[in-house]
Amino acid sequence: MMYSQRILNTPSSFIRNILKVTSAEDVISFAGGLPNPISFPINALQETINKAIEAHGPKMFQYSTTEGYLPLRQYIADKYNNNFGLTIEPEDILITTGSQQALEMISQVLINKGEGIVVEEPGYLGALQAFSLTEPTFYPVELSEEGLNVEQLAQTLQNNPTIKFIYTVPNFQNPTGTTYTAENREAIYEVVKNYDVVLIEDDPYGELRWNGEKLPYIGAGRLENSVLLGSFSKIVTPGFRIGYMITKNKELLSHVNTAKQATDLHTNIFSQIVIHEYLTNNDLITHISKITDLYHTQASAMLEAIEKYFPKTVKYTKPDGGMFIWVTLEEGLSALDLFHKAMEEKVAFVPGDPFYTNKSNVNTLRLNYTNSSPEIIEEGIKRLGKILYEVTAKELV
Ligand code: PMP
Repeated sequence: MMYSQRILNTPSSFIRNILKVTSAEDVISFAGGLPNPISFPINALQETINKAIEAHGPKMFQYSTTEGYLPLRQYIADKYNNNFGLTIEPEDILITTGSQQALEMISQVLINKGEGIVVEEPGYLGALQAFSLTEPTFYPVELSEEGLNVEQLAQTLQNNPTIKFIYTVPNFQNPTGTTYTAENREAIYEVVKNYDVVLIEDDPYGELRWNGEKLPYIGAGRLENSVLLGSFSKIVTPGFRIGYMITKNKELLSHVNTAKQATDLHTNIFSQIVIHEYLTNNDLITHISKITDLYHTQASAMLEAIEKYFPKTVKYTKPDGGMFIWVTLEEGLSALDLFHKAMEEKVAFVPGDPFYTNKSNVNTLRLNYTNSSPEIIEEGIKRLGKILYEVTAKELV
């Protein structure tokens, strides 16, 4: 069988592959990226489902519109307008099968083979995978603790007129946990406004903040070609697969709508109605604070353990929210080598490689803390620290 270049060039998810070996019972895994089940309001959802079926009947089981359930789109518009002073209308919103689907569709709508996409380096590997299906050219721009390297972004846009869109995760980024500073956002806006490109702000983690104040978006509400992506995966349930795309660019939205018709006709209407009923009849703020309290405790346990057990040459991010810490080892060390050694000691993480478009054997890695108790976190980091001291000592001999 001859398969398409498109699929042959699309990497299969490294994480899904390594999760197969890291999910054994006795492995302490910081490799996953799953929300803690505490974030699933199961009892409330069960009650909601029964009530919703009574109230909506066959409508919940019938085909529905591609745009999505209007009351849910109205809820989302109100939420962003109240929280960020935006002027979003339901007509500006498309409900998608997770925000993942929006990533894939936007790429389908904008990219001809070989055309450019600016991505964060390191960046969300699910986005790199989704975009790869359209065979683009990736232009990675360095992500530091402040956000994107603005000078590099400006130069990249200047030198590469085929660039169609820029993909960013400005809050508690996956994989680094980094949040772009207010100054960095402003500087990015000042550059991007001069170009005919789409700016995607993918924000599934923004509400998972336990420290500091939320920041305004980079382009939402002021850039003509701004796209904001959101999701209920990290605050209610990923299993329902409910995400959304927001843009004031009607032409773009209508093309993505056509792509969605072709892909799956519409997002699961049962899930849309249930989630809308849940959101309007429960206290979401209290629910989210339960999640952030837990993640804060887990992140603090991990940061304290890193401080205590890792060699001082190791650098790491200190997130104010979200689900990840990004670790940078001494220059020359390979996180992939470390991964194999760590698996022998039954600790797992994701080596940095799959978060880059063109690098391998990198000295960076991702740690997830949302699925282990503080005690287990300390034990896992202690084991990693021991290996790190061993490999660092060997390197120095
Ligand atoms: N964007 C980012 C940055 C993510 O980390 C994820 C999930 N890991 C997604 C999008 C996809 O989320 P979903 O499709 O569940 O909304």
